[in-house]
Amino acid sequence: MAITIPADGHYVLANASVPESVMDNAASGALARVDITVADGIVTAISPAGTAPASTAIDLDGGIVLPAFVDLHTHLDKGHIWPRKQNPDGTWLGALMAVLDDRSANWAAADVERRMDFSLRCAYAHGTAAIRTHLDMAPPQHEITWDVFEAMRERWAGRVELQAAGLMGPDTILDPAALRAIATRAKPAGGILGGSTAVHPENRTIMRRLVEMAGELGLDIDLHTDESPDPAANALESLAEAVIETGFTGKVTAGHCCSLAVQSDGVAKRVIDKVARAGVAVVSLPMCNMYLQDRDNTSGIRTPRWRGVTLLNELKAAGVPVAIASDNTRDPFYAYGDLDGFEVLREGARILHFDHPQADAFAWARAVGADPAAIAGFGYTATITAGAPADLVLFGARTWTELMSRPQSDRIVLRSGMAIDTTLPDYRELDDLMGQRL
Ligand SMILES: [Zn+2]
Repeated sequence: MAITIPADGHYVLANASVPESVMDNAASGALARVDITVADGIVTAISPAGTAPASTAIDLDGGIVLPAFVDLHTHLDKGHIWPRKQNPDGTWLGALMAVLDDRSANWAAADVERRMDFSLRCAYAHGTAAIRTHLDMAPPQHEITWDVFEAMRERWAGRVELQAAGLMGPDTILDPAALRAIATRAKPAGGILGGSTAVHPENRTIMRRLVEMAGELGLDIDLHTDESPDPAANALESLAEAVIETGFTGKVTAGHCCSLAVQSDGVAKRVIDKVARAGVAVVSLPMCNMYLQDRDNTSGIRTPRWRGVTLLNELKAAGVPVAIASDNTRDPFYAYGDLDGFEVLREGARILHFDHPQADAFAWARAVGADPAAIAGFGYTATITAGAPADLVLFGARTWTELMSRPQSDRIVLRSGMAIDTTLPDYRELDDLMGQRL
C-alpha cells in the first residue's frame, strides 16, 4: 500500500471498510464504510464515509481496517529453536520429547531472552498489540524464565502488552510442593496458572488441585486441555467440573480441546454445556492442530483425515467466549508460523470453516482482537471506537475474498496513529544460538 501518514498525526482515514463487529456491533458480519478521524494517537471520531472534513483525508478507497491484533496463546520461550531441534516425526509426542531435550540443554536466560525478543519483533511488525505466552515450568526452568519474562514485559511495554501462564505437566500439578513453588513464583510476576493434560486417570484431581491453588493465590487459569485425538481425553470436562464445584471466580481459559471433535454428539453436548456453565473460555489453535493432530508415520505413508480443531463454532453458538490464536512458532510443536494475527485469522477461517455463512464471516474478526482481549483482561481492547488508541492495521483489500486470498504483506500498521516499520527480523540473527550455520 502506498499511503503517507501525516507527520503531525492529525488526519482522516477516509472511505475505510471496517467490520461492524470491531466497532459497536459484536454480532454483525457486515462491513461499514466509514471515515476514521485520528488525532494525537487516538481515534477521535468515526462517521459515515464522506462526512469527515476532507482537508486531511487519506482516501483508503474501501480498504479494510482492523484493530491491531491480540494473540491469546503463544510460546515465546520455545520459538525459533527448529534449526537446532526439529520434531523427528511431526507428532505431538515427538514435539514434547524434542523440546524437553532442547530445554535441558539450552534454555539459559540469554537464549530464552534473545528468541523471545526476536518473536516479539515479528509479532509487532505484523500488527500485534497484546500477547499471552505460555512458559515451560519444568523445574528448574521456572527459576530462569519468569525473570526473563518480567524483563521482556518491561522492555516491550507500550508496544506489545504481555501476559504469561506457567505451563506445568500433569505430574508437576499433582506434586503439591512443585505446584506451590511454581504458583508462588507466578504470583509476583502477575502470572497465570497453566498446564497441559489430555488422557490421564487423575484429571479430576489435577484440575481440582490447580483450581484450588489458583483460588488460594488469586490467579487466573489458562490450560492446554485435550490436545489429543483420543475421545477418552476428558480434561476439559474435568476443568469445567472443578470450576463449578469450587465456585472459582477467576478467569479460566482452555486451549486446544481437540478431542471434543472426536467424541460422540452426546458427550460433546454434555461437555459444551458444562464449559458454558462454568464460564470457561476456549481458544483454538488451528495451525498447530492441523500440523500435529491426526499425524501418524509409524505405519508408513498416511494422509490425515481430520483437521485437528475443536468444535469452535458449536462452542460459540452455546455462548462460550471463543478465540483463535497462533500457538508455536518454528519449534517442534509447529515448524512454521510467525506470530502474525492476520495469518491466524486467514487460516482459522479456512480450517474452522467460519467463512460461511459469508454474511457472518466478518464477525470472526473479533476472534483475533476484542474477544481474546476480553478473555485475557488485557488493557488493550482491540476495538475501533472513538476514544480508543489508533492501533490499526490497514489493508488494500476491500472484501473478504480480497483479504483472505493474499498474505497481505504490504499492510500498514499504525500504532498510536503513526506508521511503524513493518520490516521483519532476519533469521540469520539467531544463527549463533542454533549452533550451526545453515
Ligand atoms: Zn500451546
